Amino acid sequence: MSVLMGQMMERPLLISSIIDYAAAVYGDIPIVSRDAAGLTHRYSYRDASVRIARLAHALTGMGVKPGDRIATVAWNGYRHFELYYAISGIGAVCHTVNPRLFRDQLVHIFNHAEDRLIFVDPSLLPLVEGLAPDLSSVESVIVMSDAADMPESALGNILCYEKLLEGQPESIDWPSLDERAAAALCYTSGTTANPKGALYSHRSTVLHALGSVVGQDGWLRPGQVFMPVVPMFHVCAWGYPYACPLSGTAMVMPGPRLDGASLHDLIEGEGVTLSAGVPTLWYGLMEHLRKTGGTLTKLKALVCGGAAPSLALIQEIESHGVEFLHGWGLTETSPIVTTCLNSTLPENLTPEERQRYKLKQGRPLYGIDVKLAGEGGKTVPHDGESAGEILLRGNTVISGYYRDAEASEASFDEDGWFRTGDIGTLNAAGTLQLTDRAKDLIKSGGEWISSIDLESAVLGHPGVAAAAAIAIPHPKWDERPLLVVVPVEGQDVDKGSILDYLRGAVASFWVPDDIAFVDEMPLTATGKISKRQLRQRFEGYKLPTA
Ligand code: AMP
Repeated sequence: MSVLMGQMMERPLLISSIIDYAAAVYGDIPIVSRDAAGLTHRYSYRDASVRIARLAHALTGMGVKPGDRIATVAWNGYRHFELYYAISGIGAVCHTVNPRLFRDQLVHIFNHAEDRLIFVDPSLLPLVEGLAPDLSSVESVIVMSDAADMPESALGNILCYEKLLEGQPESIDWPSLDERAAAALCYTSGTTANPKGALYSHRSTVLHALGSVVGQDGWLRPGQVFMPVVPMFHVCAWGYPYACPLSGTAMVMPGPRLDGASLHDLIEGEGVTLSAGVPTLWYGLMEHLRKTGGTLTKLKALVCGGAAPSLALIQEIESHGVEFLHGWGLTETSPIVTTCLNSTLPENLTPEERQRYKLKQGRPLYGIDVKLAGEGGKTVPHDGESAGEILLRGNTVISGYYRDAEASEASFDEDGWFRTGDIGTLNAAGTLQLTDRAKDLIKSGGEWISSIDLESAVLGHPGVAAAAAIAIPHPKWDERPLLVVVPVEGQDVDKGSILDYLRGAVASFWVPDDIAFVDEMPLTATGKISKRQLRQRFEGYKLPTA
């Protein structure tokens, strides 16, 4: 069948086009960065584009070729932003590395990616120095610093970022790359096996940025000041370093200090109107406000994703007049897949029902198909009740892991849908609600208990600061929940009051068989509660009911 072709130009969707556009259209809009020492740096998208051009020339001068992997080990700051654009712009791959991973994982990641260069923040140089003897492909380490502040280092092949930029041309004609070329690489936090690489293309990155601007209720636009608290080493800070310049949104980069007091100070001082990060960080901010009686006079909305928020957190954030926006996604999905926004809530809900609805992960962005699969791949109805594994297909979803045939093989069904490992329900309106990770489910007497819902419920107890439910083997029920709880500092909470509280809040068979109090939760490298470490710690735990 012959098709009548459209008569439109075709230009590749390239990351370089985003910074060119921002410089031309939103040139005066600022990027503010705070560094490890607490110093503030200010410039504009126009200034950034000039330095990005200079950096791109410097990289080319160092022999960086299309397809080369160039690693960054850095916090959120303007130089990291420049690297995102300069590396990808010349066709190389910006490989962001999470400094919180274990040593073995880091060595594996650098060697597996075969990174040629490492760009590192001065405060993280000791980490790279410690790894250096085991890194097989790295030719040079570049410290993201000016000449005056260059730290001492035992490494021989060390260079200064600002020195590289000196004397380089201030503009560049970006190469017209294939839009499917690799642009950025990020490894999953790999809690069980070795980390696996998600290799984003220019096309997937630009489409994700466009989709996320549309899919966030117009929050990203000129006049808004966005602070990415989600790190730039974790799934490209959820794509915000692309979506912000694309939409003319100003940026405030918080550097390494992400405690409640530092975030509050930046939000108020720099007029941050919107921010995004994992729930742990927002618990920290709320705790700081509670302790100090602080208020949020500028912030209008908070995006929360990466782990399930509790109803108590949503309520506390909104009690400050800040709209709670919920998002879900994975490293493998660029990451944003769904968002739950005020505009998509059903009508006629009471204020409390609206907040409860926001526990749902929401609806998919344009271009991503979502379905549920039951055991043996059986179709699960989208009735808002039946749960199944969430499968995805779309332009911003990986088609395989980087150089990992085995992991790729295991992660797709026979029709090519990506298996997320998350379990959830979908209602008729296409709204997704996660109930668990496949490996975190608790199966009691053949019935599933959602650890996410149980945790969310118990966080409403005033004496509970953090909670995680894990499955403990049980002779009669196969598995029963153990609830691990961090009490609120200075509060005297006992098991009885928590169990009483839960009895009114969840189905009776969900009420945990025991509660274990701990001083703090083990966290993963991306700031989520590490259930794997909890399971190890409570291995062989004897439940009183067993
Ligand atoms: P990562 O690839 O490290 O970003 O982790 C992705 C995983 O984080 C997902 O598969 C989910 O299990 C979890 N996750 C992300 N967002 C949410 C959310 N909004 N609610 C619950 N879990 C989430």
